[in-house]
Amino acid sequence: MSEAQSDEPPHFDAAVVGGGPAGLAAAIALGDAGLRVALVAPAPGVDDWRTTALLGGSVDFLARHGIWDGLAAVAAPLRRMRLVDATGRLFRAPDVAFDAREIGRELFGYNVANGALVAALSKGIAQRDNRIVRFEALFQTLDHRGTGDILRLSSGETLSAALVIAADGRKSGVRQAAGIDVKSWSYPQEALVLSLTHGEPHRDASVEFHTKAGPFTLVPHGERRSSLVWMDRREVIEHMNGLDDAALSAEIERRAGSVLGKMTIDSPRQRWPISGFQAQRLAAGRVALVGEAAHGIPPIGAQGFNLTLRDVEVLREIVASSAEDGRAFDGVVAAKRYAQARRFDIIGHVTGVDLLNRSLLTGFLPVQAARAAGLWLARDVGPFRRFLMRLGLGAR
Ligand SMILES: Cc1cc2nc3c(=O)[nH]c(=O)nc-3n(C[C@H](O)[C@H](O)[C@H](O)COP(=O)(O)OP(=O)(O)OC[C@H]3O[C@@H](n4cnc5c(N)ncnc54)[C@H](O)[C@@H]3O)c2cc1C
Repeated sequence: MSEAQSDEPPHFDAAVVGGGPAGLAAAIALGDAGLRVALVAPAPGVDDWRTTALLGGSVDFLARHGIWDGLAAVAAPLRRMRLVDATGRLFRAPDVAFDAREIGRELFGYNVANGALVAALSKGIAQRDNRIVRFEALFQTLDHRGTGDILRLSSGETLSAALVIAADGRKSGVRQAAGIDVKSWSYPQEALVLSLTHGEPHRDASVEFHTKAGPFTLVPHGERRSSLVWMDRREVIEHMNGLDDAALSAEIERRAGSVLGKMTIDSPRQRWPISGFQAQRLAAGRVALVGEAAHGIPPIGAQGFNLTLRDVEVLREIVASSAEDGRAFDGVVAAKRYAQARRFDIIGHVTGVDLLNRSLLTGFLPVQAARAAGLWLARDVGPFRRFLMRLGLGAR
């Protein structure tokens, strides 16, 4: 090998930047589709105490890639979902219950701790060390070259890749380096996240109380145990977070109308900012955006990561279909096809969740009336209710 050749950075079919659930899932899916993958992921930072409700095809995705075996034992099944109008407004919506059996499914999905999800995905990465090379460093810069983009990392290493997947979250440096702008908007809300035990069984049902300040959602997370995502005005979350465990447990029980009996917090608490954003484009050149590098939505109806796994599955399909056609892998073509394929699902879900959140916050009576009418329809009209359930599971 000549000296000039040995100076060339190592080349990969794909470089995935980001070690959150989106990046880990993307690296696994692309590795399993036959690509040689570089995963640029720093060592995990703060613990994430959230849980993720994996709906519809998300569990199938994890099972197909051999990840589900490590999660099944710690996952809580979700059979029913209840929406309760706790707005106390003039146009009060009825309570609506969704049951997975109505759409021919045993379950809507499973709720898992984010820590367990990331650990299972990380194990999957380690098991694929013949196809996935992990660089424990931060992405720094991107240079375009004819056969591949060059990525420079905080460790001083460089690598080149035919396709670059930005999975580096809401402040994505790869997205910026690719020159893709984001449209973003804010809400006056924050989320308080914690887990708690309760006196009464949840019967595999989640319950989402819709208040004037956002949803307050309890999701099964073990035997007589649930996780809570409480969205409220920032000042309310700040005040509640200042209470001791006993006082906060009592306040949560009061807001839940004691539906699950006496509550006792049994995890640390975390506050999460709530915002919405969407990248103006999903791809540029060899770069494709997945997960929160591409879209961010408030945690309503458990849509965020389920939307992400659909991003990843579409990428995998595109790579697999180019291999079946016998064509050499072309990162620019793959990124372009990906952007076309994902556009409408992402716009639809970002817009839908934004409207749902705003319909709770608004004081505008016609919008409140429309929201209440929609929920009356969901309760009383079977085909509409089933349509909503399928939409929530990601049907396009
Ligand atoms: C309160 C709350 C509850 C939620 N509940 C649900 C739910 O029930 N169901 C659901 O589907 N979704 C849910 N979501 C959404 C879901 O949690 C997110 O969509 C998901 O965690 C985002 O994953 P990600 O990998 O895209 O981003 P992140 O988790 O932000 O990961 C980005 C990664 O990129 C890394 N990174 C950043 N910069 C660089 C760099 N320069 N180089 C290399 N790496 C870098 C970071 O270290 C990080 O590891 C919820 C969200 C919130 C806020």
